[in-house]
Amino acid sequence: MTVPGSEVVPAADDPLAPIAARLFQPLGIEGVYARTALYEGVMERLGQLISRQRDERAEVLRFPPVMSRRQLEKSGYLKSFPNLLGCVCALHGTEAAIRSAADRFESGGDWTTALAASDLVLSPAACYPLYPLVATRGRIPEGGLIFDVAADCFRREPSRSLDRLQSFRMREFVRIGRPEEITAFRDGWMSRARQLADELALPYSVDVANDPFFGRVGQIMAVSQIQQALKFELLIPYHAQAKPTACMSFNYHREHFGQVWALQDSRGDSAHTGCVAFGMDRLVVALFANHGLEIGRWPAATRAALAL
Ligand code: AMP
Ligand code: ZN
Repeated sequence: MTVPGSEVVPAADDPLAPIAARLFQPLGIEGVYARTALYEGVMERLGQLISRQRDERAEVLRFPPVMSRRQLEKSGYLKSFPNLLGCVCALHGTEAAIRSAADRFESGGDWTTALAASDLVLSPAACYPLYPLVATRGRIPEGGLIFDVAADCFRREPSRSLDRLQSFRMREFVRIGRPEEITAFRDGWMSRARQLADELALPYSVDVANDPFFGRVGQIMAVSQIQQALKFELLIPYHAQAKPTACMSFNYHREHFGQVWALQDSRGDSAHTGCVAFGMDRLVVALFANHGLEIGRWPAATRAALAL
């Protein structure tokens, strides 16, 4: 019997279709998958490789998949990406009101009309909860701060492509301090990331990029982001004809989060921030897409880098 949604994930003509079934199991929703042991084994080793790149001063924090709605609103997310945001809704009210809403499902009705927004959203990137947290600690010390953060992230962009998930894992190194500290951090990481891709024997390019800002005003924001060279990406093609996939991003937010959260550097100026984001799922798919399903046959350099 074929249960709806139990098909292998990508469209049949997708060159990645043959590997999809060994990496992912369908959960009935596009871009939301169970991951196999084969996939998770590589994910773990990749995580360890990234941990070995961590600056010794870095503070490690792991965030849950949800964060404060108020904090994300204040960060300006709704101006830029309202279409991607997932908000947690729940049934509120008296026992009778909740019971009657839930019972509508049993009688074939729509129980979801009774939902109301809660104080939670699904985190769309791993670094958003960090800035308000750091702001509670007072001024940023001389030399700035560096963090290693991660979260399961959500973006409402359903797709059958293996590189566009709705629920995916993001790891980030985040730098908070003076402008020159952020640019040095980002420049250093842009060259370190190239070395890492070389060590993993992955083809890549690095290019200036823009975020997918929403709507017509968003197009203007995207042009300005490119003109100021605020975002770069490391792109990896999954196969010879593929449009390369952005697997890492290198972001300079200038004083945006510093101003929103009143983060001050040691001189009392608005702190600047930047982050390097690893799209963990995209990187793992890139490894299997380029090197095949037989880990034993992966290039020696790749296996050495991942200690496989
Ligand atoms: P961004 O904040 O858009 O720069 O995202 C950071 C990284 O997360 C990107 O470079 C991707 O590798 C990864 N990423 C973003 N969106 C998705 C998605 N829909 N599915 C899988 N990975 C994603
Ligand atoms: Zn970030």
